[in-house]
Amino acid sequence: MSTEKSLVQGLVERIGIEGSLLTQKVEGKEKYVINEDIKNHKDAIKLVLDALVDPNHGVIKSMDEISAVGHRVVHGGEKYSDSILIDENVLQSIKDCIVLAPLHNPPNVIGIEACMELMPNTPMVAVFDTAFHQTMPKHAYICPLPYELYEKYGVRKYGFHGTSHKYVSYKLAEVMNKDIKDLKIITCHLGNGCSLAAVKNGKSVDTSMGFTPLAGVMMGTRSGSIDPSVISFLVEQHGYTIEQVDELLNKKSGVLGISGVSSDFRDVLAASEEGNKRATLALEIFYYKVRTQIAAYAGAMGGVDAIVFTAGIGENSSITRKEILKGLEFFGFTINDEKNSIRGEIQEISNEDSKVKVYVIPTNEELMIARDTAKLVK
Ligand code: ADP
Repeated sequence: MSTEKSLVQGLVERIGIEGSLLTQKVEGKEKYVINEDIKNHKDAIKLVLDALVDPNHGVIKSMDEISAVGHRVVHGGEKYSDSILIDENVLQSIKDCIVLAPLHNPPNVIGIEACMELMPNTPMVAVFDTAFHQTMPKHAYICPLPYELYEKYGVRKYGFHGTSHKYVSYKLAEVMNKDIKDLKIITCHLGNGCSLAAVKNGKSVDTSMGFTPLAGVMMGTRSGSIDPSVISFLVEQHGYTIEQVDELLNKKSGVLGISGVSSDFRDVLAASEEGNKRATLALEIFYYKVRTQIAAYAGAMGGVDAIVFTAGIGENSSITRKEILKGLEFFGFTINDEKNSIRGEIQEISNEDSKVKVYVIPTNEELMIARDTAKLVK
């Protein structure tokens, strides 16, 4: 951690489905790939740890060299506004949050328990996606529903991608050579999942995802916020089950649902260029949703000093950045086309005399997790 240099990166894909594989990359070495049946997350973790100590492809001799493990945990509920060392109580709280994040927290728990079993004496740290947004004021996070639903069931806005919004907003202040306490920043995390955050004086004061990561702007396969009456309409008038509606909103909507082409932005951009009208419409809706959210957050903070783009789309697609910002120039910025042509690097893309600065900042959630972990086990 003294150099913050990453020694190895790895990924396990298609757990529990056909074609599962592990890839591991070490600088200066050939990519290590294991194609084998990976039944569950516990087996996946075991494979990851074995790959780390593999005599030919690994980077360490034994697991004793690992001082701590940082885990990304999606939902920490209202209990955690910062990362924490995991003990039995913390693990139980993460399990208690399964009802709030049924897709994400169970594999997080499996990952933690598998590591605890394989490395019983190594400290584990949980870094929550929801933590950074715990500074939101009540008027931003309470839903306009009967208040008892909040008190009894915890129905409220939690917000997600917090580690990313925190990283890029703090990195921006560093790059601008300003104190984050003096800045009003809008961060746009645009990947498969998309969310924006209003970061005022270093604190998240609002964010677009809500009770779950389904709310907010349109995404690859998720609808984002829509009139909730659509749900009862589909159930009552057209015989949909709740499970079907859930699947529709989470997996078949958004850019995929409108375009009918793909959830992958590259495919949709290509289809639009070839004249596919629904692909073009999908993109226009996406730009519009993000644009109006930016405008709302400028209003929420009483102004904006800088806008940041990050994640797969935000870091790589210059056309998307340009189209989103079209019509917002009245806030006081001009985009420099040449600077905006970059991909995946830290870059100011507004002109030097621009009142509001616009930046691309690649996110680095792994580094944030590593930093918090190192800090907590010291
Ligand atoms: P996740 O939310 O799963 O972490 P990413 O941040 O990797 O996702 O973002 C994935 C999205 O980024 C996909 O829609 C992909 O098409 C898009 N993307 C990646 N590279 C480009 C590019 N060069 N141009 C446009 N979109 C891109």
